[in-house]
Amino acid sequence: MIIVMVANASSEQVKAVVDRLREIGAEAHISEGRLRTVIGAIGDRGVIQQLPWEAMEGVARAVPVLKEFKFVSREFQVDDSVVDVGGTPVGAGNFAVMAGPCAVESREQLMATAESVHKAGAVILRGDAFKPRTSPYSFQGLGEEGLQYLQEARETFGMPFIAEVLDPRDVELVSEHADLIRVGTRNMANFTLLRELGRQPKPVMLKRGFTATVDEWLNAAEYIYKEGNHEIIMCERGIRTFEPSTRNTLDISAVAVVKELSHLPVIVDPSHSGGHRYLVAPLARAAMAVGADGVLIDVHRAPETAKVDGNQALLPDEFSRLMDDLRRLAQAMGVTL
Ligand code: PEP
Ligand code: MN
Repeated sequence: MIIVMVANASSEQVKAVVDRLREIGAEAHISEGRLRTVIGAIGDRGVIQQLPWEAMEGVARAVPVLKEFKFVSREFQVDDSVVDVGGTPVGAGNFAVMAGPCAVESREQLMATAESVHKAGAVILRGDAFKPRTSPYSFQGLGEEGLQYLQEARETFGMPFIAEVLDPRDVELVSEHADLIRVGTRNMANFTLLRELGRQPKPVMLKRGFTATVDEWLNAAEYIYKEGNHEIIMCERGIRTFEPSTRNTLDISAVAVVKELSHLPVIVDPSHSGGHRYLVAPLARAAMAVGADGVLIDVHRAPETAKVDGNQALLPDEFSRLMDDLRRLAQAMGVTL
């Protein structure tokens, strides 16, 4: 059961609900969001559901939820969530194209790429300062210097940006700079990191672990939500299967499955799933067609020189043509792009 408090509920009203739950032997998990406090009640369902929660002062509604993940479930919230990324809405029919280099390599590279994706119509800039690399000898990112270039690009082009955080010790730093913080596939089940991200104010994009089921992925989102950060975007980025022709198998069905099970926006990363330039546009079009709320796309001016993931980066012209395709598709689908 989830007990949703009214927007201006007092701490005494919240406490009264929590005390009542404890009296009947249930656990109370409080999530204090920006808009409202919600209380997850865990315990004997029969006992909890018998009580007239909605008669208590300050309670807006009580919702029975059968899923293990509660706050992020569609049972808890019927309407689609819209996540505000530095003024750009993502979700509920607002399709957001996020594009830029996989990694920030230099100031000049970032500014030039930001200019071209901005011109083509991307609304959120991507670019990482911290890179999770398979080999410890590969380029690991520019760190704080990279975040400063991203900030400069935001000021110049008026685009919010998304960047990855790898380490709970860097959450504060990335949160100070970025408009949207990404959890990569390798960290989806890093619960310490998820909890930290639940306790800071910036929205979070949670990529699906490459071996994670949809349920595991939604439970990971629950970790963030439960701590009080309700601004979460899910990102399908492909899973590991027996098929070697793509870097990962884009589980396009998972977009529809998550949208059925959860109110959170879901976007697709066609670059890290396909792993090859020629697959990015078709997979991005498929993402919009299946009902995703956005795409995350690698763009590089000279992919043959890229320090990370050159094979899957679109050239600026290719990205611009993809934007034209997406605009036509958006019109046919009644989606806002
Ligand atoms: C990325 O988007 O740059 C990235 C590292 O993706 P993933 O975590 O999906 O591999
Ligand atoms: Mn990459």
